[in-house]
Amino acid sequence: MRLFDTLSRTERDLRPIDGSTYRFYCCGPTVYGPAHIGNFRTFVLQDVFRRTLETGGFRTLHVRNITDVDDKTIRDSQKAGKSLTEFTAGWTAKFHADCEKLGLLPPHIEPGAVEHIPQQIAMIEKLVEKGNAYASEDGSVYFKISSFPGYGRLSRLDQRELDIGKTQNARSNSDEYEKDSLSDFVLWKSRRPDDGDNFWQSPWGEGRPGWHLECSAMIQEYLGNSFDLHSGGIDLVFPHHENEIAQSECACGGHFAEHWFHITHLLVDGGKMSKSLGNLYTLDDLALKGHTAMEVRYVLIGAHYRKQLNFTLDSLTGAREALAKLAKGARHLAANADPDARLTSADFGPFQAAWDSLANDLNTPCALGGLFTGLRDASALTGVEAAAALAGFNRVLRALGLTLPEEAVHDSSAIPESIQAIAEARWQARLAKNWAESDTLRARLAEEGWLVKDGKESYSLEPLPAA
Ligand code: AMP
Ligand code: ZN
Repeated sequence: MRLFDTLSRTERDLRPIDGSTYRFYCCGPTVYGPAHIGNFRTFVLQDVFRRTLETGGFRTLHVRNITDVDDKTIRDSQKAGKSLTEFTAGWTAKFHADCEKLGLLPPHIEPGAVEHIPQQIAMIEKLVEKGNAYASEDGSVYFKISSFPGYGRLSRLDQRELDIGKTQNARSNSDEYEKDSLSDFVLWKSRRPDDGDNFWQSPWGEGRPGWHLECSAMIQEYLGNSFDLHSGGIDLVFPHHENEIAQSECACGGHFAEHWFHITHLLVDGGKMSKSLGNLYTLDDLALKGHTAMEVRYVLIGAHYRKQLNFTLDSLTGAREALAKLAKGARHLAANADPDARLTSADFGPFQAAWDSLANDLNTPCALGGLFTGLRDASALTGVEAAAALAGFNRVLRALGLTLPEEAVHDSSAIPESIQAIAEARWQARLAKNWAESDTLRARLAEEGWLVKDGKESYSLEPLPAA
């Protein structure tokens, strides 16, 4: 399998360093609210990456952390009147439930930052000892970027930016900042009144770790000094991953990640998602609009991970139709296949091109295209040949992590008449392009526990999963 590597800016072959297990780390969610579909673009692509490795015969070790202490989690736990632990546990559970709906394989190890404070303190101690970090007057500890000559390699900071950082000898106490304010970054934040109960003892006094440090410490704990691949959304290249390299290579010596895999951001309606624009979608928001998590997954893999993906609600309707078409094709192939066929080879048959697309820089849109072409090419096959083709289809489908819809069974007798009446009124409002009325009626159906799904020519109703 080949994949583009952010550090070398080239496509490179993937081979496990230890010769057997491909070990990789993904920066996980900050658990202070529900993850949005942008976050899930990154997590879904990482999942397709893992599934592709496994389908290709690799063993994998997938580590993804939970950021359960930072400015945002502390601030919002206080607003909610909950302890940090209780607050983040609730959002972690929500994240897991959403991941399951999207068909994401759980990572093999999922460490949380709060549980790894001693490891983080130990790493800072090493950095101070080696002269890569220093304590400030208030008991915070900073990483000295001028002590690491490799600083800026990943994000290709140019000399100008590096010079700004050094001449100003600036320090940044906040976890997130832009290249223009390049500076020594914080490893340990001394206790502040608004931290509430959230502080720990350290050799530099009470405080808490800075955000960049947790990944370095957990990688060291679970993957050692060197490992195969590190991944996150493109926004993490600078400063987060740049800082991780600096911390880890200075503290542990050697070479940190062999390969860097970054996923480009999801845009909505051509722009950034934001709450104020009302276009920041979670899975629940989309479920209320009648869309399943699998439809969301289909849309998220519908663009190459290095290209921007512009999300629209219409694309979800397209995804529904595409999934139904794939399901129909698969049923046709299954009906023609010899159910007792003994398949000896594990090749992809008419789905070879789909598989090759995945193995070639994880080209998911081409792989989806290849599924349709393969189904068309296989449509006249029968017996053992159809069975072999179906096996190839299913292997690519599993690598993409898609589950196809069952054939819809419309048992309208199970739907109360009052619900059917609202649904019918809504359909009529929709036909009349009376969107406000149609949305109101959809919300009413949702309150009654029903999800309405629109097709081109009709609609169907499904009971909503219990909250
Ligand atoms: P966070 O929960 O903010 O720490 O982010 C979790 C992951 O989602 C990180 O890998 C981010 O880079 C990624 N991410 C954030 N916003 C987007 C977006 N709009 N599109 C794709 N990935 C994103
Ligand atoms: Zn990280």
